[in-house]
Amino acid sequence: MSNYIEPAKSDPEVKPRVLVIYTGGTIGMMLDKDKGWVPAPNALGRYIFCCPTLHDKDYAVAEWGKKAKDYGSGTPFVLPPHQGMPRIMYDLKEYPELLDSSNMTCKEWIKIAKDIEDSYDLYDGFVILHGTDTMAYTASALSFMLQHLKKSVVVTGAQLSIYEPRSDAKNNFLESLIMAGNFVIPEVTICFGRKLFRGNRSTKMDSDGFDAFDTPNYPLLASLGVKIQRHDENIFWPTGMEKLQVHTVLNENVAILHFYPGIKEEMVRATLQPPLEGLVLLTYGSGNVPSNRQELLDEIKIAIDRGVLVINCTQCSRGTVSDIYETGKALSSIGVIAGEDMTPEAASTKLSYVLGRDDWSLEKKKEMMLENLRGELTPSDSSLFLASSTRMTIWKALMNPTTLNNVVLPAMISHSVSFSDIRRIEELINHGGDISAASREGRTALHIAASEGNNSMVKYLLDKGVKVDAIDSHNQTPLSEAVRFNKHEIIKLLYSKGATLNTEDKRLGEKLCRAAAQNDVRKLQSLKLAGVNLRQADASGRTALHMAALNGHHDCTKFLIDEGCPKDQMDNLGLTPKDYAQRSNSATISLF
Ligand code: ASP
Repeated sequence: MSNYIEPAKSDPEVKPRVLVIYTGGTIGMMLDKDKGWVPAPNALGRYIFCCPTLHDKDYAVAEWGKKAKDYGSGTPFVLPPHQGMPRIMYDLKEYPELLDSSNMTCKEWIKIAKDIEDSYDLYDGFVILHGTDTMAYTASALSFMLQHLKKSVVVTGAQLSIYEPRSDAKNNFLESLIMAGNFVIPEVTICFGRKLFRGNRSTKMDSDGFDAFDTPNYPLLASLGVKIQRHDENIFWPTGMEKLQVHTVLNENVAILHFYPGIKEEMVRATLQPPLEGLVLLTYGSGNVPSNRQELLDEIKIAIDRGVLVINCTQCSRGTVSDIYETGKALSSIGVIAGEDMTPEAASTKLSYVLGRDDWSLEKKKEMMLENLRGELTPSDSSLFLASSTRMTIWKALMNPTTLNNVVLPAMISHSVSFSDIRRIEELINHGGDISAASREGRTALHIAASEGNNSMVKYLLDKGVKVDAIDSHNQTPLSEAVRFNKHEIIKLLYSKGATLNTEDKRLGEKLCRAAAQNDVRKLQSLKLAGVNLRQADASGRTALHMAALNGHHDCTKFLIDEGCPKDQMDNLGLTPKDYAQRSNSATISLF
């Protein structure tokens, strides 16, 4: 099911800003009579400036004055109005060395990722102009490198140069700008041939047609017909508030080995030699290799034992690997990891990313290869996977300011308090989280830290200026929580900051009497540390000392007498603690 989605920003006064990073590719190539098609530097910006469908010069002049009449004045490009959506303003960043994408390596992926990171807060979305040949690799790699992405990153290019009359460039570019500027799709995508694909599911299917890309194992993220339809249910919505984290360490010791009938043992052995650290095995059908070629399996096993991660992906463009056949089991039994339905582009770039994570152990790296990190695979046990529709619901809730402030942020803060995750709490505060916010039951972070006896967290929260006297729906304050659980250090801390119990005196008297009746000296100490007067009587005029004496509790009686509780204070019947001790006929009388 798909549905038409309103533009991300419905206020026409708000103009989304997009950064276009131009890396090279056919889209901006010109024909050199000796070399063939080569990237043409310093030409694309001029062309766009004079192309009315890509730049509304009149609007720019009206907005920025005469200087916008000339190319190179530093004013942004601006799209003409389109279907009632806000106009998009965009800047073009042309790389000093434009590349045919066949010449690209990890180095360029890292540069693109860093450039996105550097300008992430300045723009609403990003468009990467790129050659089509390795576009699926770049999009896949970027998807892993850009963790916690919350903005659209759209990669596009063309089969024919923008300077050619029949080119698909203008349209791919224009639609990518619209997808990046007017829609929130927090993924790295490929926009091509009026379709929007998940980057790490896509593959170049056609070296010649304008419909060059597809995601054989995954549906479209948006269809760009007369109306633009964003397919929300297919989008990999984030579920957290974490800030963008860019990973720029990629391991280049990765290879892809395509099996074919009769492949020589020497070829396999040669590929598996150091410095190889990760291998994508492209196998037959649902992940099969010959089970009668033990020598091949032995070579693979030697590499796995050396610590190489070997991933099994199918040579078929559609479908997944499984070990239903003996020939498939042969691989899993020696420790080859199932690549599920990943494309070779996704599997190889994921390996580079995972192997580059020096903070992960080898075991963790193996686990991560099986995990669905950015929507790149369908886990074999899909029940463990949060359905996209669930992610979408959560994402929408996150985007609703009321739910965000009243439910999500307080819950996340409380959760982080329980796990003493100060870095996360700081992050949430930076995102507008109120550290004194209460849950629906009125419980605050300080209630939780106090009841859990988390001294350092209580200190941290107090230093942050948290409200000390919040009352929850059970009439508990953070101080009463600390008393309830006898957390003496925390009681002292809270009391020193002016925290109170919010309990009327007679009720305090009852609490004292109950503690004394149970010989609970620790609770009496807690109440005292919380500023409670140990002489406080209950509604019948009895004090804790009356109850301790009556019940013959030696320790408790001694404690209260040492604390200076009067032995002769009379209750409503005119009886003193000493009378109670005598009447109970207990040994406590010796203390009076
Ligand atoms: N060889 C070109 C490239 O990948 C092809 C293209 O852009 O379509 O850069």
